[in-house]
Amino acid sequence: MCGIVGYVGPQQAAPVLVEGLTRLEYRGYDSAGVAVLNPRSSAHPSRVVRAQGRVRDLEAALPARLAGTTGIGHTRWATHGEPSERNAHPHTSYDGRVHVVHNGIIDNFALLRSRLTEEGVELTSETDTEVIAHLVARELSAGLTLEDAVRAAVGQIVGTYALAVLDAQAPERVVVARNGSPLLIGVGDGEMFVASDPAAIVRHTSQVVLLDDGDFASVTADGFHSFTDGEAKTARAAVTLDLTVEELELGGHDHFMHKEIHEQPESVERMLTGRLDDRFGTAKLAGLNLEPRHLRRFERVKVLGCGSAYYVGQLGASMIEDLARIPADAEPASEFRYRNPIIEPSTLYVVVSQSGETADTLFAVREVQRKGGTVVGLVNAVGSSIAREVDGGIYLHAGPEVAVASTKALTHMSIGFALLALNLGRVHDLSFADGQRIIAGLRAIPGQIAEILAGEESLAAAARELATAPSLFFIGRVRGYPVAREGAQKFKEITYRHAEAYPTSELKHGPLALISPELPSVAIIPDDDLVERNITAAQEIRARGGSVVAITHPGVDLGDAATQRIEVPRNEVELDPILLTIPTQLLGYHAAVALGEDVDRPRNLAKSVTVE
Ligand code: GLU
Repeated sequence: MCGIVGYVGPQQAAPVLVEGLTRLEYRGYDSAGVAVLNPRSSAHPSRVVRAQGRVRDLEAALPARLAGTTGIGHTRWATHGEPSERNAHPHTSYDGRVHVVHNGIIDNFALLRSRLTEEGVELTSETDTEVIAHLVARELSAGLTLEDAVRAAVGQIVGTYALAVLDAQAPERVVVARNGSPLLIGVGDGEMFVASDPAAIVRHTSQVVLLDDGDFASVTADGFHSFTDGEAKTARAAVTLDLTVEELELGGHDHFMHKEIHEQPESVERMLTGRLDDRFGTAKLAGLNLEPRHLRRFERVKVLGCGSAYYVGQLGASMIEDLARIPADAEPASEFRYRNPIIEPSTLYVVVSQSGETADTLFAVREVQRKGGTVVGLVNAVGSSIAREVDGGIYLHAGPEVAVASTKALTHMSIGFALLALNLGRVHDLSFADGQRIIAGLRAIPGQIAEILAGEESLAAAARELATAPSLFFIGRVRGYPVAREGAQKFKEITYRHAEAYPTSELKHGPLALISPELPSVAIIPDDDLVERNITAAQEIRARGGSVVAITHPGVDLGDAATQRIEVPRNEVELDPILLTIPTQLLGYHAAVALGEDVDRPRNLAKSVTVE
């Protein structure tokens, strides 16, 4: 979480930083700040402006002229200390010389704070970050260069960080360091950039250098040099970004979430291009880096992801069991990494992350690899940390996703799982004919998503109705359960209404007690072998005065089991959950709009959870 941006070059830094922060705002938005240095003036060596709230609040606080051509900026997602101006980054050292922005968590900050206090340093914020500024200043005052001072300071901290550091007495450079939080350098023509995410700098350059954990870099207008804590120089080459400014604009939609929901037919089509192999009835997944005979050796699949990615992982595990008939399950990566998991060489570990920077998932990857396991990734962001560290993977090619509440990327994850399950199935016992059946189903998905989106008006009406309830259930059985979990998650993260997902079959074992006219249920009722049981459960809700919005298939006779019916086109039974999820995106979206909530930036959340 949190966004970092930095600039060194001939332009005024402040507008570049503010524009970059606006693009990074989805990573954190409780406060923001910039620090600029003016190499051409000795009178005003550094200026820092910080504000609680959004980047637009920072903009309003900026003086008309904030001269300086070197600068750093930050948009915060607080981990230590409330969101406030004094806790906002950049943080400044006791002598005013050093300014620091930080993404991550300093685990030993309490010890460092008390040591600094004993030495007479007055700490002005409650953050873990502030200690870094003082540590760097202390090293500088002992005569070290900024590069060496940052290295020495980092040597004293334990934790995760992406750092950008300014020294008012070396105003032509920004020094950066990375460990566990994303950071890249943008290479311009006579100017250089620093950012936690390419979105911040795509307007200026498409050439980026991705830093690795343990890297430091000293960035000046005409270039950079990178090094490690062992002093060795590291060679880091630039790669070209596949991202345009237009992809980061609203393009006529009111919200990014709406835009991203509507991009799905086209983006899924693009994702499937070149990946369906009609000749062998399988999926072409060269990026997995696993030959069929190696794939065949895995006896089990373990899927790891966080939040919605974990719910899609559950769906993916059931696709793998269905198509490959090997045991598969999903677990939150955040739990897995802390519980000393048993890593089996015969298990294929699959991690899922939109940003490829989710800290808990990244640490799960490392845990698996440390213990000799094979891990592949389903990742959207090309070149991200997880994408680089896994043994192989499937890029999701969803394009950028800006809304904090994920929609498009989740659909791509579920398609990614379908491709993986198909591929695994075909090296096991899935027949050629069944392989072709799944391929035909996948080909139909983009058009079927478009069909569902064409019914947006009636979904919006249902959403407005649901928005009036203080609490609601999302229920689904077996393949429908992950759909219900994701539906509830989306609803609560953007509407702030309590929504609880439950396996339909479990309702009568407890939560049925809550059913009343004030508590509606959204029921996933596909036309599969469980349809009758699901209808019975809906009837049990109706019999107790609860209303039921059913997401179902054409031709399913719901009788009076549903108060409202939402139809999605039928696909193959293994792939149906992908389509059943689409209406839940629009239900959440339109309910949040009806409630007047900030759809793209839900409170307390941020996209790309790069802190543990
Ligand atoms: N731990 C730092 C803070 O609370 C940085 C958090 C972040 O990555 O946004 O200020």
